This record gives sequence, structure tokens and C-alpha cells, in this order.
Amino acid sequence: MYDAIVVGARISGASTAMLLSRAGHKVLLLDRAVFPGGKAAATNLVHPPGILRLKRWGLLDELTATGCPPITEYGLRSGPVELMARLPAVDGVGEAYSPERSRLDQILLDAAVKAGAELRSGVSVRELITDDAGTVTGVRGETSDRTPVVEHARVVVGADGSNSTVARLLDAPKYEAHPVLNKSHWSYWEGLPHDGRVRTYRHAGKHAFTWPTHDGLTIVGVALPVADFKATSDEDRDRTVISAFDEVDPERAELLRATKRVDRWMTGSVPNFLRRSHGPGWALAGDAGYTRDPITAAGITDGLRGAELLAAAVESGLSGREPLEAALAGYARDRDALVTGHYRYTRDHATIADHSREELAFIQAMNRSPTHGRDMVGMFATMVHPAEFYSPASIHALLDHLEPGAGPGWKLRMVRWLARGVPRHLPGATRTADRLVAKNLGPMGQYLA
Ligand SMILES: Cc1cc2nc3c(=O)[nH]c(=O)nc-3n(C[C@H](O)[C@H](O)[C@H](O)COP(=O)(O)OP(=O)(O)OC[C@H]3O[C@@H](n4cnc5c(N)ncnc54)[C@H](O)[C@@H]3O)c2cc1C
Repeated sequence: MYDAIVVGARISGASTAMLLSRAGHKVLLLDRAVFPGGKAAATNLVHPPGILRLKRWGLLDELTATGCPPITEYGLRSGPVELMARLPAVDGVGEAYSPERSRLDQILLDAAVKAGAELRSGVSVRELITDDAGTVTGVRGETSDRTPVVEHARVVVGADGSNSTVARLLDAPKYEAHPVLNKSHWSYWEGLPHDGRVRTYRHAGKHAFTWPTHDGLTIVGVALPVADFKATSDEDRDRTVISAFDEVDPERAELLRATKRVDRWMTGSVPNFLRRSHGPGWALAGDAGYTRDPITAAGITDGLRGAELLAAAVESGLSGREPLEAALAGYARDRDALVTGHYRYTRDHATIADHSREELAFIQAMNRSPTHGRDMVGMFATMVHPAEFYSPASIHALLDHLEPGAGPGWKLRMVRWLARGVPRHLPGATRTADRLVAKNLGPMGQYLA
């Protein structure tokens, strides 16, 4: 009998198992993969809140020793407008890293085993065991040579990815679900300068991206709306990706031509959903409970933050501080409070719609503001809540940084006039201004509506 069985031993599962083992619990960690091996789809980026967790857990030095440089600035170029800003810091951590995914998985797995978790790889979980009241009490599975495995625990955690078997066996409902919105091609380049910057581009229905990763390599890719995506040859993908850069950053396109792709092209996409993540004797962690489009590169960061929340809840339930079921319900609530805003922001971003003239004027204003640029990249990096960034106070403050004169277009000039030029005793004018912004700023205006 274990305190916890964790199904899935990568980002979310290994972290949860490590934290529970460190708290003194008896943990069984199962994965159908055999380690080291298997490869999760990822463009590797871990935002500062994820890096903070690794630092808290004493694993950051191991990560940096793998040869990935710190990333300190994120940027967006959309049509003619460019925003590049330094990341804000969270508890003193203002750096992102893009480590080789298999090495990050291994660091977490080794830490879990070192903390006392019992790892059994090559085991596929096929069924859940429940008692008469419907509480999950264990798992049934089999090894790769078909030897049956039956184990019991006080709690079973499904950390088995977006196609989670545990979630399927529990019939855990999805909410706020959206289908796959885009698909991406990405690969590794050698010879590009590492300048600590994540660059993203939005232009003509394409989202191109590039950032430094491990061993002197650079991630380069493009995401396209599903309808525009074609599975093609490697040569065609070279052309598709480089031409996406050509349109919006010709200098970088030239650099790509002058340097070398050193890996095959990879292709990836996921649907978007939140899933009920707790019930009697069970919980879901990481992508199993919450999968979002990779366009904001937040799955690893969310997996690490979520593991911390879940381990604290399980610890509270197992130690008797509160009933386990109530603790798990609290975990699911806290997880949703933490991620829902960013989830919706990601979903909007993932449609890869070109920015309107008004949105471009606002992005330009963010670049001029001493705080909005930093907060915008902080929002991308899961650090600033969209409701905060797009709040009336923040949008009104941004009006002061719009390009003077005819630049922003008549709608935004009118908004500025309504919000700034009209006497304060006419709150109706501010409301009209907010409604105009909401109507003309797409997702950016949703919190004003
Ligand atoms: C194209 C693409 C690019 C991405 N880029 C980024 C990025 O740059 N940054 C970022 O943060 N995130 C990125 N992500 C998301 C990130 O990869 C995921 O969020 C992350 O892998 C989730 O980790 P996890 O531990 O929850 O699940 P997973 O990594 O999916 O691990 C699940 C584990 O469960 C095991 N398992 C599954 N079923 C069973 C079973 N029945 N029995 C036993 N074991 C089982 C699997 O073998 C696997 O090891 C990207 C995703 C995609 C698709």
C-alpha cells in the first residue's frame, strides 16, 4: 500500500512524486516509457515562474549546467510594430531557460528517485481500482512483457499527459474546451547568435518564433492556423519557415539562410481544455488536467507550478490536516484561479489573427510606456494576469503613450479624448471610451467590456 501512486513520470508526475517523497510519503511512480528515452513534444522554453520552482527545489544549478543560457527579454514584432522588453522578476527570478527537454525530464526524475519515490518504468496503467463508494484506491496495469501490475494507494495522481488514460477511465469532463487552433513546425539551428531573447512574430496569418536553447543551438519555427497547415517535405518546411521570417524580419531570414538547420523538422499541435482534476481518491496534474496551445510555451511552467499546488494539497490530506477530498478540491480551485486567465489569453493568441490597426497602435504604446512593455511580456510568460494587464486603469494609463497626432487612427484618438479630455464629472464619457476600446481591441479589450 502506497500513500500515492503517480501515473506519468515527466514534468508534472516526477515533480509531484519528488515533492511528496520529500515530505516523507511512500510514492510509486509509474510510466509506460522506459527512461532515459521517449521524447515529449516541446520547444523547451520555461518561463521565470517555472525556473523559480526549480530553484526552490534545489535543481536550478543542475539545469544551467546542461548548457542553456539565461533568457532575459521577450519580444513581439507584428507588421511594422516591434516590442521587446525585459522580463519582470518573480521572487528574484527574472530569467527564462530553454533546456533540452529530455535533460529537464531526467533531472526531475532523478530528484524524485533520490527523494525516495519508487520508479517503475515500462508499466502502462490500464484500469483504476475503486471501492464500493467509488473512491479510487489503486491501479491495474501491465509491463511491456504483459506481466500484470496491481498496486494500491490512498491517492492516485494522473500525470499522464493530455491524452490521459486516468482521466478517460474517470470520465473526467472537460470545460472551456476548444479544438486544435494551429499547428507548428520547428527545428534546431546552429550558428545563430545567442542574445538572451525570445522573438515572436505575427504577420499575415503566421506566428514565427525563435529563441536560444541548449548547446549553442537555437529553436526556430512557425505556427500556422490549422486550415493553412500542410504536411510537406523538409525542403518545403525550410521555405515556409524562412519566408515567414522574410515577411517580417528580413535580417533574421538572411541569418537563417547563412546558418544551418541541424535537426529534422518536428510538427506539433494540441487541443485546448481544462479538465475536472479531482475526485474521491484521485487528482490530475499537468497536461492531463489542463492542456493549452503551445503558442505561449507555458506547459512546463504550468506543470511545475501545478505540481507544487497538488503536492501541498495531497500532503495536507494525507497528514490529516483536512479531509483528502476537500484538499484535492482546493487544489483544483487554486489551479484554475492560477491558470484560467492565461489559458484564455493563450487561446486568443493561438488563433493567429493579424492585429488590427488599433491593436498595433496599442502595442506601439506599450513599447513607449515604462511599465506596459515589461507587463506585456510578463503576461506572455504567465507572470502578469491578463485581467490586471487589460484592466481599465492599465488601458487608460496606456492612452498616454499612444503616438501623438494622426498615428493611432481616429477611433483611438477619440477614445483618448473621451477618457482624458472630457471633464471627470462625466463618467459616461469614460464608459463610452471603454466600450470603444473593447470593441476595437479584440481580445485586448475584453476586460473593459
Ligand atoms: C509542439 C509543442 C511545443 C511545446 N513547447 C513548449 C514549450 O516551449 N514550453 C513549455 O513549457 N511547454 C511546451 N509544450 C507543452 C509541454 O510539452 C507539456 O505541457 C508538458 O510536456 C506536459 O508535461 P506532463 O508531465 O504533464 O505530461 P507529459 O510530458 O505528456 O508526460 C506524460 C507521461 O505519462 C506517461 N503515460 C501516459 N499514459 C500512460 C499510462 N497509461 N501509463 C503509464 N504512463 C503513461 C507518458 O509516457 C509520459 O511520460 C509544447 C507542446 C507541444 C505540443
